[in-house]
Amino acid sequence: MTLTSTDAEPHVARNYSPIPVTAATAEGAWVTDVDGRRYLDCLGAYSAVNFGHRHPRLVAAARDQLDRLTLTSRAFRSDRLEPFCAALAELCGKEMVLPMNTGAEAVESGIKVARKWGYDVKGVPDGQAEIVVAHGNFHGRTTTIISFSDDPDARNGFGPYTPGFVQVPFGDARAIADAVGENTVAVLIEPIQGEAGIVVPPDDYLPRVRALCSEHDVLFIADEIQSGLGRTGTTFACELWDVVPDVYLLGKALGGGIVPVSAVVADRDVLGVLHPGQHGSTFGGNPLAAAIGHEVVDMLSDGSWQQRAADLGAHLHARLRDFVGHGVVAVRGRGLWAGIDLEPEQGTGKEFCIRLAEHGVLAKDTHGSTLRLAPPIVVTEDEIDWAMDRFADALDFS
Ligand code: PLP
Repeated sequence: MTLTSTDAEPHVARNYSPIPVTAATAEGAWVTDVDGRRYLDCLGAYSAVNFGHRHPRLVAAARDQLDRLTLTSRAFRSDRLEPFCAALAELCGKEMVLPMNTGAEAVESGIKVARKWGYDVKGVPDGQAEIVVAHGNFHGRTTTIISFSDDPDARNGFGPYTPGFVQVPFGDARAIADAVGENTVAVLIEPIQGEAGIVVPPDDYLPRVRALCSEHDVLFIADEIQSGLGRTGTTFACELWDVVPDVYLLGKALGGGIVPVSAVVADRDVLGVLHPGQHGSTFGGNPLAAAIGHEVVDMLSDGSWQQRAADLGAHLHARLRDFVGHGVVAVRGRGLWAGIDLEPEQGTGKEFCIRLAEHGVLAKDTHGSTLRLAPPIVVTEDEIDWAMDRFADALDFS
């Protein structure tokens, strides 16, 4: 099969360059296109379908809620929001949840909360708050967030930029120590950088960031939007290093692959700085989102999805390591999440993804010749083996 790019969507803004597969239906780890071809989904919507496409428990929770109540706005209460927030707070070991919709909104909200906390609690002079972020970060696409991105595609042409951010190299705790000053209110990092190519920091990094933040009265904000909720074999990637941040930013899989659901999760002394009228969202915490998000939290509560991601991840990484030196330069990641650097002869990451799709596997490139895999956790070991055999076919294309 040869897939060719055509201008199939003339009315869709060109802010993406999709591989030429047009999905029509999906179930579990499999996607079927409009011509009836089946693909094993090894991207999982960038970790948003951690539980597989249309997981029966999540679809049932959605259907049940669709028949009861879908939207109130926050002008009234719904009977869904408090139970969802209580369950999510418990999963995170925190006291409060600020429900939002997309990942970028959770990040924006986390930034606002950190600044407000800085002024109200820490005593930073008004308008002077600084947040330390990492080179290579990806936290979303809003104007403030791209202001502290160093990806020219994400940033250039969208100024003027929001001030108040200091960039340091990722993985370098000493650089954070040097950057933290009197007006620093937060360190905002992805525990494992996703979009940058599944970049895993040195083992002492997160523990040292945690210690620095505690020492200097600075909030440690972990963006676990892509890394969290089972992907790395733990509920949160921070757990891999026994680290507990002050603030979790969650999204993607929280919506069960059905609706956008995101959240800022923290203790009362942090989230309590927000008062009525200071922040909000018409759809944030809506009953449908809360019902699905609650089911996601329930599914994660006994640790079995996390364990499955850890076990299958070990198998995936063992298979991927066999390719190093045979078309692959390096493999990184944790759990069911992998970044793969291809040898230059393999062409660009996108070209490789198109070859993979021709062999029936969906994946996505990130930055040049790096590929990322994040299959739904419902995938089986046999399906991973099948995908790895197709991966070998795609590497051996000459
Ligand atoms: N933060 C991280 C770590 C992400 O990977 C992403 C999306 O890829 C976002 C934030 C933004 O999420 P969204 O696309 O839902 O706005």
